[in-house]
Amino acid sequence: MSTTDSTPSANFIRNLIAADLRDGKNDGRVVTRFPPEPNGFLHIGHAKSICLNFGLAAEYGGVCNLRFDDTNPVKEEDKYVEAIQEDVSWLGFAWGDHIFYASDYFEQLYEFAVRLIREGRAYVDELTAEEIRSYRGTLTEPGKNSPYRDRSVEENLDLLERMRAGEFPDGSRVLRARIDMASPNMNLRDPVMYRILHAEHHRTGDRWCIYPMYDFAHGQSDSIEGVTHSICTLEFEDHRPLYDWFIDQLEIRHPQQIEFARLNLTYTVMSKRRLLELVTEGRVDGWDDPRMPTLAGMRRRGYTPAAIRNFCERIGVGKSDSWIDMGVLEDCVREDLNESSPRAMAVLRPLKVVIENYPEGKVEEFDLPNHPQKPEMGTRKVPFSREIYIETDDFMEEPPKKFFRLAPGREVRLRGAYFIRCEEVVRDQEGEIAELRCTYDPETRGGGAPDGRKVKGTIHWVSAGHALETEVRLYDRLFDQANPAGDKETDYRTRINPDSLQRLTSCRLEPSLAEAAPGSRYQFERLGYFCADSMDSAPGAPVFNRTATLRDSWSGNG
Ligand code: ATP
Ligand code: MG
Repeated sequence: MSTTDSTPSANFIRNLIAADLRDGKNDGRVVTRFPPEPNGFLHIGHAKSICLNFGLAAEYGGVCNLRFDDTNPVKEEDKYVEAIQEDVSWLGFAWGDHIFYASDYFEQLYEFAVRLIREGRAYVDELTAEEIRSYRGTLTEPGKNSPYRDRSVEENLDLLERMRAGEFPDGSRVLRARIDMASPNMNLRDPVMYRILHAEHHRTGDRWCIYPMYDFAHGQSDSIEGVTHSICTLEFEDHRPLYDWFIDQLEIRHPQQIEFARLNLTYTVMSKRRLLELVTEGRVDGWDDPRMPTLAGMRRRGYTPAAIRNFCERIGVGKSDSWIDMGVLEDCVREDLNESSPRAMAVLRPLKVVIENYPEGKVEEFDLPNHPQKPEMGTRKVPFSREIYIETDDFMEEPPKKFFRLAPGREVRLRGAYFIRCEEVVRDQEGEIAELRCTYDPETRGGGAPDGRKVKGTIHWVSAGHALETEVRLYDRLFDQANPAGDKETDYRTRINPDSLQRLTSCRLEPSLAEAAPGSRYQFERLGYFCADSMDSAPGAPVFNRTATLRDSWSGNG
């Protein structure tokens, strides 16, 4: 079946696998794989592929291999292998003992190459890279045969062996498949199979100095592993005839390749080259910077695996490239965190309030629910005293019409505590507001007035003497344009959102948060979702990252 004429639908791959099982193909087995190259951290696009491959295998009682396509020693490192495993596990998927490396097949792939030479299907070329490019022709003009194309089998075998033995410098020779220099599919114009690279490989060390090209390794690796459904992104559609050619010539088991549209997400970049640039140029604080679209970054930001899996399910799987708005991902995160995260009070930009008629030295404790809709999540004790902090924004000296929070002479409810009234504004020497003098109504304990009088605003607060003083980082989208890499004239790096990170260093948090474990998540009431940073928190002294605001502030209708 040609995949180009299949009807795009949210689950066309599912339908296809179900049909294969009905038809008894592959002896009823489903084997998929997730094949990252260990040259960077995984990003949200990879999550789509992981959820698909591991998800489908689980759904149909099959297995999904984790295979590292490690054919380029220059860019690959063990630290990426480790990070990728951590991220796949964190997302909630397990590969058991089905972990593989293309580098484990180097010997086998070499034998495949030898076989192709023997059958006149491959040759050692000595054109330079530049010449190979110009001999390749264009989309409208056929290519030209290399003068080395008709060497004898013996000569080719000898040269390949000597390439492997390290006799030749990098770039001096390549092994090419002998297919068709006039093929309308450029991938079939005698593609390179092996190149010489005197480089240390993260797993094979210096055992090899020739390495297979991705296109020579990928399909055969799938075949060796018995992959039944080789799911990849659309740009590999034009490579499929080449993979088929290799597999047909080698007469080995034939995986079925199925292409789907890659995830494109607004307000970020996903190419690993760019992500690496952001890291190495110090534009972000590493691969796990909470603004990065990497799984490590999202984890550190406070995103949950469930939210990311929901997102991947929600966006579906299609056959045509499209863009998903960042707001969709953020909404998935909010939905999950709204359900699962305990509430707490935190004042990010503190304004001191002295409650003049509250006895000095007195402390009360209020039992506040950890979740407004979930009594089973319990309550916590929040201390209250004569001096508290409120959010600077929750007071206005000359409030406009629709401002219902604190103002001179006005009464407001402190969440879960009392009504207070602002009696006086105290200024410092510069004339800035230094503190507010207020009074409270002891009759309003718990937040209601026995005389039935109403207040329009409820604000959050923290007892000054009990507060945990700490840093909170307000993270926002890394780029301030929907498609930062969209036009070639402007460097995507100039589109970094200057407000993507704001550090607030003297925030006051309710004391129960001192015990927050690294990585734990909260809703700070009225502010958003926050997560104790897993790198910079110390015992008893957590710092927090903003995961998401309560509402979308980016879309016009948010
Ligand atoms: P880049 O082009 O940025 O280097 P890549 O696609 O080469 O990324 P790999 O490590 O080769 O990165 O990807 C592993 C798997 O993840 C591949 O099967 C690939 O198709 C899939 N994948 C990568 N990016 C996306 C994406 N944006 N959406 C869906 N799947 C993706
Ligand atoms: Mg790739």
